[in-house]
Amino acid sequence: MSDLTIPAHLLPSDGRFGCGPSRVSDAAVAELASLGRSVLGTSHRQAPVRDQVRSLREGMLALFAAPQGYEVLVTVGGATAFWDAAVYGLIDQRSQHYVFGEFSAKFATAARTAPWLAEPVIVEAAPGGRPEPIAVPDGVDAHAWTHNETSTGVMQDIRRVDDALVLVDATSAAGGLPVDLAQVDVYYFSLQKGFAADGGLTVAIVSPRAIERIERIAASQRYVPAFFDLAGVVENSRKDQTYNTPAVATIVLARFQVEAMLAQHGDLAGVVAAQRAKASHLYGWAEARPWAQPFVTDVDARSLVVATVDLVGVEADEVNAALRANGVVDTESYRKLGRNQLRVGLFPAVPLADVEAFTACVDHVVEALG
Ligand SMILES: *Cc1c(COP(=O)(O)O)cnc(C)c1O
Repeated sequence: MSDLTIPAHLLPSDGRFGCGPSRVSDAAVAELASLGRSVLGTSHRQAPVRDQVRSLREGMLALFAAPQGYEVLVTVGGATAFWDAAVYGLIDQRSQHYVFGEFSAKFATAARTAPWLAEPVIVEAAPGGRPEPIAVPDGVDAHAWTHNETSTGVMQDIRRVDDALVLVDATSAAGGLPVDLAQVDVYYFSLQKGFAADGGLTVAIVSPRAIERIERIAASQRYVPAFFDLAGVVENSRKDQTYNTPAVATIVLARFQVEAMLAQHGDLAGVVAAQRAKASHLYGWAEARPWAQPFVTDVDARSLVVATVDLVGVEADEVNAALRANGVVDTESYRKLGRNQLRVGLFPAVPLADVEAFTACVDHVVEALG
């Protein structure tokens, strides 16, 4: 426990800088409380909750300017459950995975251990780097991308390279990074990162080709447990429902956040512009300090939503402990990466002024630790 006190005038308005779960705005919590009895503890098959689901789905279509024919699916279980659903219901025979950190590796493992699929192709880059896409005409039927590798702070530039479906885990990216959904067939994400909600649900924006794949596999002989049945997810989502009971609070919080993003910034490009301002402040600050440097050397790959900064000659554990003692929390590096590093969530709910306050706090702590 650190007894270092950061002067109050340096502190951010909100001390939560985690990369997931990430801060939930007070306004979103107030919205949830004001809806209170009209949605919480009521049937998810009746209008009040279904209206929330419908508004969430419409908000996502608007924010991502989804092409004609794309649909928004909502399903129970976060991205981790969705990997299994994809292994059952989206990958036909063989997938290709771009692995550059912990989260991308987990989906690859799910595909590799499924006995009904062929051995997946793994295209790997060392942590801090990113793999380039490789076309495999007729060789694979799905490319598995991670839009933002949350464990390392590396973002990807998503694009189609062949006819295979493009499946993108956008759990930490969605709503903060640019994307052209015409290049993507399934853009899926949990809601506790960029959408400032709670965990437990996945939103997936899917193309007509993806729906066709889902329906074709569902009609085949493959065994699919009911919980992972994506054809059922399509059917229920079209009715603004989920197969089993959803986390209603998560739906309300995410619906509020997507509407707030549209109201504040107009469209995704507007949100991304604000992300660039925050990221450029943070990376610029790190580059200007002799004791800090951005972990990701490729400037174009530096994430606009999860910033990783290596410390040199200063113990990140001590800095994090001092920050935590002052209410500035969750800036620890991803455990398994094992670096002397700060990892900072810059999600849309985090204002630029708080990112500026954060760097001022770190300056103060480092100086005080001397
Ligand atoms: C957090 C995260 C996940 C896991 O999400 P859960 O909701 O915990 O299943 C998957 N992928 C990425 C890129 C993440 O950041």
